[in-house]
Amino acid sequence: MGNNHQDNLTNLLVEKGISRRDFLKFCAAMAGTLALPASMIPKVARALETVKRPPIIWLELQDCAGCTESLLRANQPTVAELVLDVLSVNYHETIMAPSGAGAEKSLADTIAAGGYLTVVEGAIPTGDNAIYCCIGGKSAEDILKEVAANTAAIIAVGACAFYGGWPATPPNPTGAKGVRDIITDKPIINLPGCPYNVDNLTATVVHYLTFGLPAMDDLGRPLFAYGRRIHDNCERRAHFDKNEFVRAWGDEGHRKGWCLYQMGCKGPVAYQNCPTIRWNGGLSWPVAAGHGCIACAGLNFWERAAYESVPIADEDKAPPATYPAVEEGGKGLSPAGAGVIGAAAGLAVGVAGAVAIHQLTKNESE
Ligand code: SF4
Repeated sequence: MGNNHQDNLTNLLVEKGISRRDFLKFCAAMAGTLALPASMIPKVARALETVKRPPIIWLELQDCAGCTESLLRANQPTVAELVLDVLSVNYHETIMAPSGAGAEKSLADTIAAGGYLTVVEGAIPTGDNAIYCCIGGKSAEDILKEVAANTAAIIAVGACAFYGGWPATPPNPTGAKGVRDIITDKPIINLPGCPYNVDNLTATVVHYLTFGLPAMDDLGRPLFAYGRRIHDNCERRAHFDKNEFVRAWGDEGHRKGWCLYQMGCKGPVAYQNCPTIRWNGGLSWPVAAGHGCIACAGLNFWERAAYESVPIADEDKAPPATYPAVEEGGKGLSPAGAGVIGAAAGLAVGVAGAVAIHQLTKNESE
C-alpha cells in the first residue's frame, strides 16, 4: 500500500536486504520477460531506480479475488514484489488498511490529483441498473467511469476484467462486461488469465515506467506475454509430435509426462507465456502438473468443454524449430534464480542476462 519511501526503490531494496546483484538479476529477468535484448538491462535498471512512479488505484469489482490472491501469493519479499510495493497503491478496497470514509477519501484525493495508473480486477455488472456490485453506495460501473476519467492508463487483470470472465457466462444474469466494453477513451492493457500471472503485471509496470505502453495484439494483450502459442513452448510438445498422448488420467502416458491434447488441452489455441515464466516463483504451471491448459487468457474460455480436444489445422501442426529444454524430473524450463526473481526470464535471455550482470557488477566495482 502507500509507503514512506517516496518513490525510492534503491532505499527500499537496501532496507529489505536485497543486494545490488539481485536487483540486476531482476532487471535481467524483466528484460527477458519483455523479450528485450540484454543491452537494455542497464536502461531498465536506471529507469527503475530513477523514474517517478505513479500512484495506483486498484479496483476489485465482480470476481472471486483470485487475482488479488495472485498478487499476494508470495510469502517473502522478492524484488518483483518490492517494485510493486514501492508503487504508491493509494486504494485497494480488498487489502488496504483504511476503511469506510477514510478509504473513500483516499480514492477521491487520488482521482483529483490525476496521473495515476488504474488496475481493474473483476467484471463490471451492468444489468438492472448495475445494482449487482456496489461499493460505498456507488455501482462498479460508475466507480470505474469516475476513476477512468483522470487515469493515465488502465491495466485490466484477469479474465473477468478482460471480457467479463465467468460472471459473463451465459445467461450472464448480471450483465457482466469487461473494462474495454465500458471504457473506450483510455489506453487499456489487458492481462487476462484466471487468474492473471502477477509476473506479467510486474513486467507490464516495468515496461510502462521504462518505455511507455507495450506493443499489444488486437485484444489489447501485450505481445511480450501473449504473443506466442503455449503449444509451441510446451515441454510436452515433443510427445505431441511423436503421437505420444495421455489417453486416460493416470495411465502410463500420464505418468511419463506425455502430451495432454487428447485430454482436452487447449495449448494449441492458447497464447500466453505460462510455459516460460510459470507460476509460484517459477515452480510449475498446469501442464507441468499434469492438467491440460484451459486457455484462460482467451475470450469465453469458461464456455469451452475443459476435457474436449480442440481442432488443430494441419498447418498449425508443424513442429517448432526448437523444443524447450526439459529438466531431469520433468520440470521443464526453469527460470534462472527463481527464488529471487519472481518474474522469470527465458533460458536464452538468462544466459545473456548473466553475462550482462557480470559486466555491470564488474563495471560498478571498478
Ligand atoms: Fe503441451 Fe497441450 Fe500442446 Fe500437448 S497439446 S504439447 S500438453 S500445450
